[in-house]
Amino acid sequence: MSDLARPALSVVAPCYNEQDALPEFLRRVGAVLDSLGGSSEIVLVDDGSRDRTWDAMTVAAAADPRIVAVRLMRNHGHQLALTAGLSVCRGERILIIDADLQDPPELLPDMMALMDGADGKAGADVVYGQRRQRDGESLFKRASAAAFYRLINRLTDVDIPTDAGDFRLVSRRVLDLLLAMPERHRFIRGMVAWIGGRQVPLLYDRHARVAGESKYPLSKMVRFAADAITAFSVVPLMASMTIGWVMAAVGFGFFIYSMIGWFMNANLPGWTSIMAALGLLGGMQFLMLGIIGAYLGRLYDQSKGRPLFMIRDIVSGPK
Ligand code: UDP
Ligand code: MG
Repeated sequence: MSDLARPALSVVAPCYNEQDALPEFLRRVGAVLDSLGGSSEIVLVDDGSRDRTWDAMTVAAAADPRIVAVRLMRNHGHQLALTAGLSVCRGERILIIDADLQDPPELLPDMMALMDGADGKAGADVVYGQRRQRDGESLFKRASAAAFYRLINRLTDVDIPTDAGDFRLVSRRVLDLLLAMPERHRFIRGMVAWIGGRQVPLLYDRHARVAGESKYPLSKMVRFAADAITAFSVVPLMASMTIGWVMAAVGFGFFIYSMIGWFMNANLPGWTSIMAALGLLGGMQFLMLGIIGAYLGRLYDQSKGRPLFMIRDIVSGPK
């Protein structure tokens, strides 16, 4: 596809049972796009909804040439539905947004300006929304999110921004790098952070949903967190190595201790051999588990098939 055919901007929104939110979403996004001017498209992904979301999408698409409606075969979950939309969209810049209007589309002009880097400031590859305040979210959701981001940032060397969802504006270059990662368990905000480049936050207040209810019950949130941690860290797998060294040292200590007791005739008959074997075997087993973990971790990293490096610029002298 020639780059000339690309719209300047794509808005990509995954939708699961969003029939009630969709009209208002399209009205507000449409108004923002009108005010911005320039070519644009709105890619809506129906993630196997069980309500009338698809009908609402096709009706809207018939009335607005900017709308591209995509329907998945079944429910794939937020991150994969978003990935489907991202692979279909063609824009030079891409706004990732939820259909429930928790994240205001009216921030788009500010995000565009930050990406342009006006008034002598450097432009950005990614502008991500960072929540200043979260309306309509329980204390539990906020506390668990805070704990989760603290944990994942300790376990990985990727700086995953706290209080940020997937609401962000990304450049085509970043999107192409993201789409080049074939991994199945996708934690998109982390993968975008992993890509690097200049990523700048835009502070905003997150609102309550306009309609419907959250599709992220606790069970899905826990699974999402597990996906995120395992996709970005093999530390849990390697933990058996650390435990292994400690256990091996303790086991060896026990071995020495029981041997000394045996030489001094202070042990019950049989105790020495049992303790010695227990200490040595226990330690060795954990150490071996750790070694297996180390290899498995590397195998896992390899199997994710991420690019080895990502070149930002190459400059050469005059020919
Ligand atoms: N979503 C989806 N597939 C799913 C679950 C959610 O496409 O299986 C969409 C949903 O329609 C919304 C976005 O992902 O546009 C975020 O979901 P939700 O608002 O329920 O999550 P929350 O904001 O409560 O974390
Ligand atoms: Mg939401």
